[in-house]
Amino acid sequence: MITIKNSEQIELMRQAGRLLYEVLQMAAHMVKPGVSTKALNDAVDQMIRDHHAEPSFFHYEGFPASLCTSVNDCVVHGIPSKKEILREGDIISLDCGVKLNGWQSDSALTVGVGEISKEAQALIRRTEECFFEGARRAVAGNRLGDIGHAVQQHAEKAGYGVVRDLSGHGIGREMHEDPAVYNYGIEHYGAPVKAGMTIAIEPMITLGDWHVESDEDGWFFRTLDGSISSHYEHTIAVMENGLPEILTLPGFHWEGEN
Ligand code: MG
Ligand code: MG
Repeated sequence: MITIKNSEQIELMRQAGRLLYEVLQMAAHMVKPGVSTKALNDAVDQMIRDHHAEPSFFHYEGFPASLCTSVNDCVVHGIPSKKEILREGDIISLDCGVKLNGWQSDSALTVGVGEISKEAQALIRRTEECFFEGARRAVAGNRLGDIGHAVQQHAEKAGYGVVRDLSGHGIGREMHEDPAVYNYGIEHYGAPVKAGMTIAIEPMITLGDWHVESDEDGWFFRTLDGSISSHYEHTIAVMENGLPEILTLPGFHWEGEN
């Protein structure tokens, strides 16, 4: 069931989203060669708790950490480790969730470690663009297929793979709510987008083939062909005026909007 949120509820999600933005910015600035993924996790965990919020991922379905750290061919759900030391040229997806006053937010970004290849830079940039292509279609009157279609088109036009096994999702009191928000789709198909919907859109884009496989524990989704992959996610709300607001990107305005 897709739950519609009122403006007070969206305001609470906006507050959670603002904190999550600051947490991810802090973590992104920590990324450099020699840093362990565990150090990133610990800093994120501490900052969230210092703000009287909860790290949503911690113990979620048994996940043992507060931040997903997914390096290179790992697409999502990488578990931080003190043995995993970032090296020059790596790329890392930082994915985190914050629960504040009972309301969730979920966001991810991919950053380079030191100097990265032109190829990796282009993949990261394109993945972010894919998000915005999708998000700008999260407009009342459209359908979810319009979002997925836009993400998929933008990725595939550049020759990239679109991971199918995982998707975005509704979000609110729970981190994962209905509906599933796929990164592929058919225009004018799927559930209608309505004011008060709150969803996380999260393209997972690969340099090579899109097929992925999880490890034995069900975490660490990696590309089957070993190609690097990028992930970018924000929580958005479809506002009263029918337009999407990006709750985890404070201060962002769509071009042409005041
Ligand atoms: Mg996420
Ligand atoms: Mg998510």
